Amino acid sequence: MIQLYIPLNFLGVIYREIKQSLADIERMFGLLDEHQEVQDKPGAPELAVQGGAIEFRNVSFAYDERRVVIKDLSFNVPAGQTVAVVGHSGAGKSTLSRLLYRFYEVSDGDIRIDGQDIREVQQVSLRKSIGIVPQDTVLFNDTIAYNIAYGRPGATQSDVERAAKAAHIHHFIETLPDGYQTPVGERGLKLSGGEKQRVAIARTILKNPAILIFDEATSALDSHSEQAIQQELRELSRNRTTLIIAHRLSTIVHADQILVMSQGELIERGSHQELLDKGGAYARMWATQQHQQLELSDDGNQMA
Ligand code: ADP
Ligand code: MG
Repeated sequence: MIQLYIPLNFLGVIYREIKQSLADIERMFGLLDEHQEVQDKPGAPELAVQGGAIEFRNVSFAYDERRVVIKDLSFNVPAGQTVAVVGHSGAGKSTLSRLLYRFYEVSDGDIRIDGQDIREVQQVSLRKSIGIVPQDTVLFNDTIAYNIAYGRPGATQSDVERAAKAAHIHHFIETLPDGYQTPVGERGLKLSGGEKQRVAIARTILKNPAILIFDEATSALDSHSEQAIQQELRELSRNRTTLIIAHRLSTIVHADQILVMSQGELIERGSHQELLDKGGAYARMWATQQHQQLELSDDGNQMA
C-alpha cells in the first residue's frame, strides 16, 4: 500500500504543477490574442499628450458581430476633469475602458485623446499615458515589489514604498515573511481581492500617468478601507483626466459629470445634483443604494 501511495501522491504534485503552468500559458495566450487584435500602423507617431482630453465620437462596438455592446456613444472628458460612468452590470462600462486602452478596436466612430485618433498612434505610447486600476487585477508570479514597480520600470525601493503607503498596503507588506520580496500570484502568496486592488492602486500611483481609469477600483474593499483609499484616489485624480467606473454611487458624487449607461447606450448625463433633480434612472439607483446603506448600518447597530 505504502509503495503505491507515494508515487500517486508524487503524481498529484506533478499534476498540480502542470495544471498551474497550463493556466499561466492560457492567460498568456489570452493576452497575446488581445494584443493581436490591434496593430500599430507603419510609422505611427507617439501619442502627444497635453491635457489628456478624451473624446468618444459615435462609438459602436461588438465583441461578436451578432450582438452590439456599445451603441453610438459620444462623450467628452475635458482635460483635468473627472467623469464617472455608472449603470447596471453588463451595461458596457468596462468595455469603454478596454476600448480606450485599445485592447479592442472600435467597430464604428472614433476615440481621441487630445485630438489624436488612438488608432493612429503607437500603442506603447498610448498605454504609457493611461493608468488603469481594473476590476480584477492579475498579479505576475514575481515579488510584490516587482508587481508594484511594474508601473514604472526603474523605480527605486523608496518610490515603491511611497506608492504602497499611499495605497494603504505598506503595513500589510511589512508583516509578510520576506516583506517586499515575498513572491505573490498563482505560485506565491495568494492575495485577497482587496489586497490585489491595493497593489494595482500602488502600481498606478507609481506610474503617475496623464490619464486615469478606475474600474470599480475599490469594489473589493470594505467600506472603511474604501473611504480611506478614495481619499488618495481623489488626490491622485486632481487636475488629471479621470474616468471612474463605479458601482457604489457614493464614491462619485464629486465627479464633474456622471454618465448613466444602460445596455450599451447613454441614457442620462449631468452632475449628481442635476441627475437627482431629474428624477430618472440615476435618482432611482441613488435611492436604492441609500436605502441599502441604511439597512446595512441598521444591521450594524443590532450587532453592536
Ligand atoms: P459592465 O462593466 O458594465 O458590467 P461589460 O463592459 O463588462 O459590462 O460588458 C458589456 C457586455 O459585453 C456584457 O453583456 C458582457 O457579457 C459582454 N462582454 C464583456 N466582455 C466580453 C468578451 N470578452 N466577449 C464577449 N462578450 C463580452
Ligand atoms: Mg465592469
